[in-house]
Amino acid sequence: MALTLGARLMDDCIFCKITQGKLPAKILHEDEDLVVFHDIRPAAPVHVLIVPREHIPTLADCDTKHQQLLGKMLTLASRMAEQLGCPVQVDQNGQYSGGFKTMFNVGPDGGQEVYHLHLHVLGGPKPWAGWR
Ligand code: AMP
Ligand code: ZN
Repeated sequence: MALTLGARLMDDCIFCKITQGKLPAKILHEDEDLVVFHDIRPAAPVHVLIVPREHIPTLADCDTKHQQLLGKMLTLASRMAEQLGCPVQVDQNGQYSGGFKTMFNVGPDGGQEVYHLHLHVLGGPKPWAGWR
C-alpha cells in the first residue's frame, strides 16, 4: 500500500531518527516527551535543540492540545541554559546579566530547514549576532 505523504515525511525525518535512537547525536536530556541534543552546526557557543518525540512538522501545526508540550519545551529551555552555563541572573540592585535566546523557525520564510518541531536554545555573548 502506498504511504501517505505524512508517513513518507516522517520516515525520512532526521529528528525522528535521533529521538528514536536510530541516528547518533550528542544528547543532553531525555524524558518521555522531549529529547535535547547539541546542534550539529552551532551558531553560538551554546546551541542545543529541544525536540519533541512526537513528529509535528512546524509550530504552525500546533493547536490547543499541544499547549502542555510547548510549555514544557519552553520551561526546559531555561533549565538547559542554566545547566550549560548561561542562566539569567539578577543582582541585589535588580541588574540583569547573562541569559540566552530561544527560537522557533517556522516554514521557509522563517528559515526552517528540518520539518520536525524544535526549539533552538542559543547562549554565549550575543549569540544572535552570528545567526545565519
Ligand atoms: P531549522 O533551520 O530551525 O530547521 O534548524 C535545524 C537545525 O538542525 C540546524 O541548526 C541544523 O544545524 C540542525 N541539524 C540538522 N541536522 C542535525 C543533526 N543530525 N544533529 C543535530 N543538529 C542537526
Ligand atoms: Zn520527525
